[in-house]
Amino acid sequence: MIKKTTHIQDSLGLLGHIPTIHAPVPEYLFIASENARCPKAELFIKEGDYVKYGQVIGMRHAAFFDQPIHATCSGTFEGFEKHYHRSGKMVNFMKFHNDFLDTKDESIHERSEEEIKKLTKEEITEIVKNCASVGLGGSSFPTYIKFQTKEKINTILINGIECEPYINADHRLMLEEPEKVVKGIQIIQQAFDCKDARICIKSKYKDIAEVYHEFLKRYKDSGITLSCVKNYYPQGWEIAMIKESLGIQVESGKLPSSYGVINFNVSTVLGIYDAVKYNMAVSERRVTVTGDGINYPSNFFVRVGTPVKYLIEQCGGYKNPDKDKVFILGGPMMGASLPSDDTICTKTVTSIIVMDKKEYREEPCIRCGSCSLSCPVGLQPYQIMNTMKSMPVDKEKIKFLNPLKCIECGLCSYSCTSNIPVTDYIRKAKVVARLK
Ligand code: SF4
Ligand code: SF4
Repeated sequence: MIKKTTHIQDSLGLLGHIPTIHAPVPEYLFIASENARCPKAELFIKEGDYVKYGQVIGMRHAAFFDQPIHATCSGTFEGFEKHYHRSGKMVNFMKFHNDFLDTKDESIHERSEEEIKKLTKEEITEIVKNCASVGLGGSSFPTYIKFQTKEKINTILINGIECEPYINADHRLMLEEPEKVVKGIQIIQQAFDCKDARICIKSKYKDIAEVYHEFLKRYKDSGITLSCVKNYYPQGWEIAMIKESLGIQVESGKLPSSYGVINFNVSTVLGIYDAVKYNMAVSERRVTVTGDGINYPSNFFVRVGTPVKYLIEQCGGYKNPDKDKVFILGGPMMGASLPSDDTICTKTVTSIIVMDKKEYREEPCIRCGSCSLSCPVGLQPYQIMNTMKSMPVDKEKIKFLNPLKCIECGLCSYSCTSNIPVTDYIRKAKVVARLK
């Protein structure tokens, strides 16, 4: 457990000033065979088998891609256990008994700088594919697919904005690992043959700006610069980031690459660096564990597969153990709310927020329009919600109201004067809109 004296928390639970510490690796680690993007999987191991750290133990299958599954410790595969996934469903996780030796798989090896410089775009793409690199800001989109774009890329944007409150994992990463960030960006520049790379951060992050202004002096001709964007939410949404830093408005339905722009979250950049430098899949990541429900909020290095319950113990446990809790994986605006702490830290978990449950009474919609005014994509959330409430649901009207444009930023719920969880209705409307 961490010590109380190392932690000072401000009123919003922001931990940007608190260094990342290594959470001890637990005795048992859990890896989901399937996930939301990949509903099918085949395993290459059976119960009782010994696995090595970084070994490919199976393959996930999605509609248009496959993704290797890697062991995140050395030890024994002990079968399956059900835990909550961030989708809110109980799913099967593979259970590994850690032998605490971290015996590495033979596939892990270091490439020299010279070897890296000779890699072609196709070779880099293949490496990130085999290392199952995905968007680590929470999107989990396969990185290699982004690398396969045929568009000419003129600008690379690195998303270090981390716009949701409470989350500080990327903030700490940028402060603590500028060299890896820059080397990861250079790999991306090499792949896309693109010199213009901009690291986007919030203007208020003076500490990051200071570190990079100084650090980038060593990389004068690298083409890597810092771009400070406004401080409001949702600046981290890629469309807002592109508009703010480049003045380009990406039209609905178009990809940033069709404007010559490609963007990666800063944690993803580190994942790409580790894949190319060490041929290693993401097995550890920074996670902010915070909220008023726990004793000592912290920024941790967490081994992928660690139970959330175990991390909460490392934070001194619950402040008020008798009170009901709210558990959120990800940020408070876009994160997934789970009914219990019986869940696992996967590689796309950026933060865990634990709050004491407060009772809000939902009032009827008064058509104040606040949700519409706050919607960054110009939807009419209350109209979508009210259409969803009237039975039977008018499918054609839902399609006309276009909920598929919603980026699930959560602002309509946040701004609702009647405490209505409007975003939940929009999520359901998206399902209806996809029906044939
Ligand atoms: S969550 Fe609400 S505010 Fe955000 S994009 Fe969707 S409808 Fe608009
Ligand atoms: S903010 Fe809430 S009360 Fe106001 S129109 Fe939207 S749903 Fe209705």
